[in-house]
Amino acid sequence: MRVAAGLIFAVSLCAPGVAWSQSAPPKPAAAAQTAPAPAQAAPTPAAPQQAAATQVQPARAPCNNPDALGVARTVEIDTTGGPGFGFEHFKELDFLRDHEVVLTFDDGPWVENTPAVLKALADQCTTGIFFSIGKHATYYPEILKQVYAAGHTVGTHTWSHATLTNKKLSEDQRKEEIEKGISAVKWALGGVSPAPFFRFPALQHPPEMVTYLGTRNVAIFSCDLDSFDFKAKNAQQVIDVTFKKLDKLGKGIILMHDFHKHTAEALPEMLRRLKAGGYKVVAMRAKAPVESLPQYDQELMKEDVKLPTVSQRPVSSVVTTVSQ
Ligand SMILES: [Zn+2]
Repeated sequence: MRVAAGLIFAVSLCAPGVAWSQSAPPKPAAAAQTAPAPAQAAPTPAAPQQAAATQVQPARAPCNNPDALGVARTVEIDTTGGPGFGFEHFKELDFLRDHEVVLTFDDGPWVENTPAVLKALADQCTTGIFFSIGKHATYYPEILKQVYAAGHTVGTHTWSHATLTNKKLSEDQRKEEIEKGISAVKWALGGVSPAPFFRFPALQHPPEMVTYLGTRNVAIFSCDLDSFDFKAKNAQQVIDVTFKKLDKLGKGIILMHDFHKHTAEALPEMLRRLKAGGYKVVAMRAKAPVESLPQYDQELMKEDVKLPTVSQRPVSSVVTTVSQ
């Protein structure tokens, strides 16, 4: 089926990450995930500050590991018209050379797992794209700030991880999922606009939203190979599945989840094997950030009651009289 922006997409092959309902409570963790309380009370979103007209992506720290995987090259993406990446759905932009990979991480930021992923990447002086869920960004803005500060690319992955092919959602609700996700990530980054890089939850691409993203000049990321880390029983399985596919394809955009524990555990070994196998990491940067829409920045402000906060606890559990 041909859609706007000249993109061709097919039936989803990469599998979903996690499935949240749009009305999920404010801890939309997968069932198996033990959802810890936020490290600190989630603040009420304040209006994002105006981002600087020209944003300079923070540089990665100098590399002190002579055997590091590193970054082979950095490509800048002009997202005008909403180009699509990832051969599972988009066949036109074949920019990776043999043995080149792009590391992508979905569904964060999340406690422990995202910091562990950041450490593994830092130890190997390499980088990836993080497709953040808006709600999670509001839970853990400090973790998302660390992702950005480390020089990684931050994209978006809707507000609540709703599957946008769900017929129960109106067109306005689908747009809101996309736009409020962008507004939330911008808020979490202290007013810094994310990259105009978007991944549909469960890689379900409704044609009208593909068209819409084209009008917003937001690039769409499918993948070339799915690690199926959300299905893995342990870290080794994440590694085995990934390399079985990668060694067959020889290159590709790899879909993983910094949200998942097994991925965080697998990543150090996975990066070592990439290096040993002669693979090279490509960094993807956007030519310009995405501009959030004021309407959805304001919608985000209404979410404060849904954000986790200690005020949801009864007073008696917070304040105890110990002496009079
Ligand atoms: Zn996801």
